Amino acid sequence: MDEKVTLTIDGIEIAARKGETILEAALENGIYIPHLCYHPDLPPAGVCRLCLVEIEGRGITISCKTPVEAGMKVKTETPQITAIRRAIVELLLVNHDGDCLQCSKNTQCELQQAAKYVGIDEARLKRLRRASRKLPVDTSNPFFDRDMNKCILCGKCVRTCAELQGVSAVDFAFRGYGTTISTFANRPILESRCESCGECVVRCPVGALVPKKAIQPSREVKTVCPYCGCGCGLYLGVRGNTVVSARGDTENPANRGALCVKGRFGHDFIGHPSRLAKPLVRRDGKLVETSWDEALALVAAKLAQYRGDSFAAIASAKCTNEENYLIQKFARAVMGTNNVDHCARLCHAPTVAGLAQTFGSGAMVNSIQEVADAACILAIGTNTTAAHPVIGRLIRKAVRKGAKLIVANPREIDLCRSAAVFLQHYPGTDVALLMGMMRVIVEEGLLDRSFVETRCENFEAFRKSLENFGLDFVERTTGVPRDRLVVAARLYATTKPASILFAMGITQHSHGTDNVIATSNLALLTGNVGKPSTGVNPLRGQNNVQGACDMGALPNVFPGYQRVTDAAARQKFEAAWGAPQSDKVGLTLTEICDAACEGRVKAVYLVGENPILSEANSKHVAAALQKLDFLVVQDIFLTETTEFAHVVLPAATFAEKDGTFTNTERRVQRIRRAIQPLGESKPDWWITCEIAKKMGAKGFDFTHPSQIMAEIASLTPIYGGISYERLEGGGLQWPCPTKDHPGTPILHTERFATPSGKAKFVPLEYRPSMELPDADYPLLLTTERSLYHYHTSTMTRKVEGLNVLRKGEEVEINPKDAEALGVKDGETVRVASRRGEVTVRAKVTSVTPPGVVSMTFHFGECPTNVLTSPAVDPVAKIPETKVCAVRVTKLEPVAAPS
Ligand code: SF4
Ligand code: SF4
Ligand code: SF4
Repeated sequence: MDEKVTLTIDGIEIAARKGETILEAALENGIYIPHLCYHPDLPPAGVCRLCLVEIEGRGITISCKTPVEAGMKVKTETPQITAIRRAIVELLLVNHDGDCLQCSKNTQCELQQAAKYVGIDEARLKRLRRASRKLPVDTSNPFFDRDMNKCILCGKCVRTCAELQGVSAVDFAFRGYGTTISTFANRPILESRCESCGECVVRCPVGALVPKKAIQPSREVKTVCPYCGCGCGLYLGVRGNTVVSARGDTENPANRGALCVKGRFGHDFIGHPSRLAKPLVRRDGKLVETSWDEALALVAAKLAQYRGDSFAAIASAKCTNEENYLIQKFARAVMGTNNVDHCARLCHAPTVAGLAQTFGSGAMVNSIQEVADAACILAIGTNTTAAHPVIGRLIRKAVRKGAKLIVANPREIDLCRSAAVFLQHYPGTDVALLMGMMRVIVEEGLLDRSFVETRCENFEAFRKSLENFGLDFVERTTGVPRDRLVVAARLYATTKPASILFAMGITQHSHGTDNVIATSNLALLTGNVGKPSTGVNPLRGQNNVQGACDMGALPNVFPGYQRVTDAAARQKFEAAWGAPQSDKVGLTLTEICDAACEGRVKAVYLVGENPILSEANSKHVAAALQKLDFLVVQDIFLTETTEFAHVVLPAATFAEKDGTFTNTERRVQRIRRAIQPLGESKPDWWITCEIAKKMGAKGFDFTHPSQIMAEIASLTPIYGGISYERLEGGGLQWPCPTKDHPGTPILHTERFATPSGKAKFVPLEYRPSMELPDADYPLLLTTERSLYHYHTSTMTRKVEGLNVLRKGEEVEINPKDAEALGVKDGETVRVASRRGEVTVRAKVTSVTPPGVVSMTFHFGECPTNVLTSPAVDPVAKIPETKVCAVRVTKLEPVAAPS
């Protein structure tokens, strides 16, 4: 409970929070004091001087920087204040260019509001107006324009970019009369380090920074971003049946109003003309439009021929919890198989497997906002500012507050600019790196003995395994100088609370499970688990990959990670679903492809995934899909994968349906229908129910997703207390076992989820990656993500502006390697591995170290995954997409025909 102080403002008695400013207290109590440079998210700057007040006994001061005090008597209006304010507003107006009616900020402009409040003499303004100084409007950014003629130099954009976003793309320049806000060297904003997040645009009080598409919505709908696992809350602005805007939800606990470029500007895909609007069936080799009745009847009749293990379902990390629940229920209760999996296999399967061994459960331990309060952060295998931008922003915030950041990554990623220590290890050597750090911690006695003794077991066996990680070996293996490793180890062990963040750089390896175990061993060793701002925090990739796992869209578990091999769990689901359940663990995504190639799986129901681009060794996936007797794909667009489909069912987007997503911090949140589904597209839950009902199944008579959630809660202990009514008030973090449980922001505070309640240290050995460079393929290819595209870009490439910000695939190559190969920046090269080759533009950059090249996998015209290795982790069965051997050759220009 905040301590209160009582003061009076304009004679009204007010109870204000101790420590807040007079301006904040006034605004909270509905008293307007004109202001332009103040914003609740930013520390007060006192630049515009408009918020003057008079304090009895102290005189005139600015209210945005003066804290409230008990007994204070404040006046917001006196003749002197009014005169000063009017002069300030006049000076701003005479330097402010433009006609209000022409400005897209008209009626929402804070200068307009202040001018109206103080009262302006138009004749006086005319006399004062300075000779026009017309600066060119910067229209280079695809999402917003910068018109510095309208700028009032409040500095909010500068502070937002530096202090909230941590980017510093803009600053004051040309001091004196010509002062303006500029990028470095006054280049167009598109050529600056700007990340196009739009946070400055949101805060600009006037029309100097405005979105290119400034359409006023007629209503707003509260929902959740459909891109990454941060699960940022947002409001979609709707006009008619069109989504016209998005803004961050300041009350959402995951993002507190912040959005990245995709969440703010990346929604044009919803109404894109190429959206699937009718079901399609393949006739004479071509997909042709048909009716829902015909398509559903065909799917039901065909699938009925493949009940049992010749069928597999591939669920979707982009679909809702309710939809994933239904897909796995359909596979298990209607088709009689545990052959159900989804793309978590390609991202965080090792997280689930690894953390289950050490902590007893595999999910992010702490909550997103806690990152900002960590004293030390180890970000390993995560390019957070590109893949999870809003969490990346919190890391930068923590550093600004004094936290020590250790970045461990083969590439010199953007976060390195904020790092106290950068460990640039060779791809695939994470176990050696982390075990080396742990050896230093143990040898120097920096471990948390009390935590190790009271809350952990198997320490001695683990300690013995450290003997194989002498620092000479670690330095040789990882390429990280031992001195730097020692500094990092000491920093992590002694700066508390310390948080570990990781993503696919840790998991997408043939030893991904070992990598995850190594991160949890490190956290346990230093007692950094179960406390605020600590933990092992896997950053989940897609918006609902956590939920798809929770819902049992996995071959070995029912919803809530209840094992299919557990007789009691099977009985429970048999009773609920009225269908016998198999105790045989089903096939993983990679195994489904193998089985299809071998003719063991003949029919696949694939929802909202594009494995032709996302799976490793994608030629093998194409061969598998080609071999199927029957493939149904359910999606919002035609994709590289629908080319193999016999039937394509048009699905609704996140904006066209109700449901829930679970973000990376285990927060279950409501998404809400903002518009009617486009054309004849239907919500995925409706489609799955219709197929099941056409096949004669019972238990699919749902008319709203809230009913599906009620069934989920009744069968899934970690979701037991979750209902739509409770989610109306905000999200709930699982475990939430009962209707009165508040949810769980931090896991393992008292006991771990193991049978003994103690965490288990797991001894580790170093295992090299399966395919390393050699004479034929001398470079190592690793894969990464772009800030501007998502996954296989099914959605982001339908957003024109995102295509401007990142046009296509590039292979990053170090200047040394480029020189040896005779390749210049921008030239076209061929990248070949043992499995295939692609032609791609070279980007010569020292971000990628010598011997390593790097590509994303977002672009269909350059399918990086034809190159990647099919080697899998033996436990998690994840393919090793982070390491394979390739050869790069310069393509000679083709001679023009004579
Ligand atoms: S859009 Fe974001 S990154 Fe770009 S200048 Fe504004 S705040 Fe900075
Ligand atoms: S561009 Fe907008 S936010 Fe930035 S200083 Fe000018 S008026 Fe303020
Ligand atoms: S950080 Fe992720 S969830 Fe948040 S707005 Fe960006 S893409 Fe959406």
